[in-house]
Amino acid sequence: MSQSLKDSVNKGVLELKPYEPGKPIEETQKEVGLDNIIKLASNENPLGMSPKALKAISSATDLNRYPDGNATQFKEKVASEYNLKPSMVTVGNGSNDIIEFIAKCFLSSADTAIFSQHGFAIYPLAIKASGAEPIKVEAKNWGHDLDGIADSVKENTKAIFLATPNNPTGTVLSVIELTTFLKKIPSNIIVLVDQAYFEYIEDEQYKVPFELINEFSNLVISRSFSKAHGLAAFRLGFSISSEEIADFLNRVRQPFNANSLALIAGVEALNDKKHISESVDINKKGLALAEEFFEKLGFDFIKSYGNFISFDSKMDSDKSFKYFLSKGIILRSLKVYEMPNHLRVSIGTENEMQQFFSTLEDYAKFLSK
Ligand SMILES: *Cc1c(COP(=O)(O)O)cnc(C)c1O
Repeated sequence: MSQSLKDSVNKGVLELKPYEPGKPIEETQKEVGLDNIIKLASNENPLGMSPKALKAISSATDLNRYPDGNATQFKEKVASEYNLKPSMVTVGNGSNDIIEFIAKCFLSSADTAIFSQHGFAIYPLAIKASGAEPIKVEAKNWGHDLDGIADSVKENTKAIFLATPNNPTGTVLSVIELTTFLKKIPSNIIVLVDQAYFEYIEDEQYKVPFELINEFSNLVISRSFSKAHGLAAFRLGFSISSEEIADFLNRVRQPFNANSLALIAGVEALNDKKHISESVDINKKGLALAEEFFEKLGFDFIKSYGNFISFDSKMDSDKSFKYFLSKGIILRSLKVYEMPNHLRVSIGTENEMQQFFSTLEDYAKFLSK
């Protein structure tokens, strides 16, 4: 009898499709034969990293040594920055790591975990890989339907994954909405509030504070250095939680998951308030202009609180994606997010945005032909 590895691989893994990242610039250059390609596809900071972080990593030494497995200095920096205990901080190889730690610690094949329609694609991946069953709750006005999520909790639900601002819709939850929701959720269910885009929020009512974990012991809040901090290549993120949860998460963390350069850059990024405010500023201007252009040209868009904005391209987004690609602009098709006609554009530099707007004008003409 022939034996198949398909019989051996975990059932959840068999059903997975790998995460599809934004198209890389080099590959696109070859494909479309243009030198000048702009990538507005992965919500990266167009200004790059903090000059302070760059300087610090340039003079880093001892790179023959393993990183500090406990990330002591980094955790102390985070703790002092936000007035917390270092033992509440869990360090991730990107905040993506935190999502996986939660799945590893709390989910197995007998369990269910909840995420929202149009929610971040990594949640169902991590849930399925753990063998648990994902429950997808229909979105409401593109955002998370918190009542719907609370109603979907089952006896065997162990985790709920929420991003605010959410990627790819850009929608937010207010502190009041989230607090009301958390009161309804049993305290044995982990709730991850993913704040990868936190720095871009300006309106206080949407800034969910770390202090909320004092009230809700099942709450985990994650942050990323890949977006506003401009350190996507380094892979660094962290979570804040109770010491008890942090202890669990650290048990499944590989010993040196955050590399030495990332840890050094992360500390400096947190120090460099000027770079953060410049990054937020350029984003604010770019977002406002994008809204203006979408309105002027008659494209429906979803109001965004992140560093990207999603709009209805009025045709199959695999096709509209290709249109922009042929003009040298890499966007993101949102088909896999059940948004078959939507494209997401990351907010770039002023020049990049001008190029996008002028291509959008051409695209509008192309549609009306
Ligand atoms: C980009 C993103 C992340 C992952 O960021 P890393 O820190 O680079 O792993 C997490 N959550 C959401 C919602 C994101 O958009």
